[in-house]
Amino acid sequence: MISDALAELRATLGPAGCLEGPAMYEVSRLHDASGHRAEGQPLALLRPASVDEISAAMAICHRHGIPVVPQGGLSGLTGAANAGDGEIALSLARFSGVESIDAASGVMTVRAGTVLETAQGIAAEAGFLLPVDLGSRGSCQIGGIVSTNAGGVRVIRHGTTRDNVLGIEAVLPDGTVMSHLNKVTKDNTGYDLRHLVIGSEGTLAVVTRVVMRLRPLPAPPETALCALPDFDAVMALLNTARARLPLSAFEVMWRDHFDMSGGTGMFAETPPLCVLIEAEGPGLEAVLEEAFETGRVTDALIAQSTSEARQFWEVRESHKPTRDLNELLNLDVSLPVECMAPFVARCDAALKALDPAADSYFFGHVGDGNLHLMAALPGFGWADGEDALQALAYELVREYGGSISAEHGIGTVKRPFLHMSRSATEIATMRAIKAVFDPDGRMNPGKVL
Ligand SMILES: Cc1cc2nc3c(=O)[nH]c(=O)nc-3n(C[C@H](O)[C@H](O)[C@H](O)COP(=O)(O)OP(=O)(O)OC[C@H]3O[C@@H](n4cnc5c(N)ncnc54)[C@H](O)[C@@H]3O)c2cc1C
Repeated sequence: MISDALAELRATLGPAGCLEGPAMYEVSRLHDASGHRAEGQPLALLRPASVDEISAAMAICHRHGIPVVPQGGLSGLTGAANAGDGEIALSLARFSGVESIDAASGVMTVRAGTVLETAQGIAAEAGFLLPVDLGSRGSCQIGGIVSTNAGGVRVIRHGTTRDNVLGIEAVLPDGTVMSHLNKVTKDNTGYDLRHLVIGSEGTLAVVTRVVMRLRPLPAPPETALCALPDFDAVMALLNTARARLPLSAFEVMWRDHFDMSGGTGMFAETPPLCVLIEAEGPGLEAVLEEAFETGRVTDALIAQSTSEARQFWEVRESHKPTRDLNELLNLDVSLPVECMAPFVARCDAALKALDPAADSYFFGHVGDGNLHLMAALPGFGWADGEDALQALAYELVREYGGSISAEHGIGTVKRPFLHMSRSATEIATMRAIKAVFDPDGRMNPGKVL
């Protein structure tokens, strides 16, 4: 009986750990940033404050056969954390904090509910860089970035979240704690369960604690905003920068995105393409001077202070188009870098053919082959527009040998299109793995698969 389960959860977690009805919405919006909502509302929002409480809550839900949706900072963009009718939302927000920093090994043990920016700040105070960084740093949590294998703006130098996780502790759907808080780099002891849980979008287990790899804190980086005439120049600058600099970010904005994001007026004339380039060491000015002489860069602003560098990043991370344009759809794909320019041209033309009033904005972590597309299709409703946009863009992605999800995951939004990037055999193997962890299909049901 649901009422028995709720009574047990209330008794186990107390009033702060088990919220129901309107009280749930006073502490959480219960849906992510995708604009999608689950049907109805969850039975309860659980906010356990320890691994023991998480384990006990999972065991209760298991005994009563109630589906559980883990929730982090709810900054996800695929509906993966949305909880609805008949489900229990399990927030990690009260299980937060950095447990230890091991300076000799350069690792941090951190609780899943810790906001990324908080963990970054604590690492910096100890003289380290926590290398995963993304625009939602102020709200996304460690458990969320691990469960989505978040990418972000430093992947070009430090890799994705997966590359920076050494150990993981997770609670399985029946409440069992599976702990391997490994701190060493080399660990070839059988199947790497850590890598199954990373990126599984809460469909296998609840991540509770993570050992993250830290790097020495670099000197303040050199940052520049560059105007480029075409995509060939972007690729040439990327290749030179990779060869000559400790490149830590290479973010590209196409003209409309740059203008819309507050870039108007930064250059005498808005260029076709703008690159935000950052290096964790000296040499950027020399690279840009050379690129200027060959015409690959037509203008460049080099940050003279940290606050100037922050202004450049604010343009890249402003998300002003999202705020200013209603019904903007958001896509995240991977492509071989050399295919990006034809992809953008064809995608833009196809969108205009589909809806002459379409607006589209291209930008992304181009150094990692990751392109974002925001588009408005006023001729369609929001949901129909999203379906039409995804079908159109993913067909091109498949043609160019890319991936339909570079970093946001699959959730519910991309689930109908998973077969465009993964074979039937791969999807069947994923289902088999899911069944091992979650034989009753109660972990974040309907997400990914
Ligand atoms: C402004 C903005 C910028 C962004 N930039 C980037 C970017 O550059 N790169 C990028 O990769 N993403 C980006 N994102 C997307 C989003 O921030 C990431 O996907 C992030 O990793 C989600 O973390 P979260 O804590 O908010 O997770 P949520 O949105 O709460 O959840 C995401 C998924 O993780 C699961 N989950 C959360 N916590 C746990 C846990 N403890 N155990 C098990 N499962 C869990 C949920 O069930 C869900 O499936 C951006 C989003 C916004 C709004």
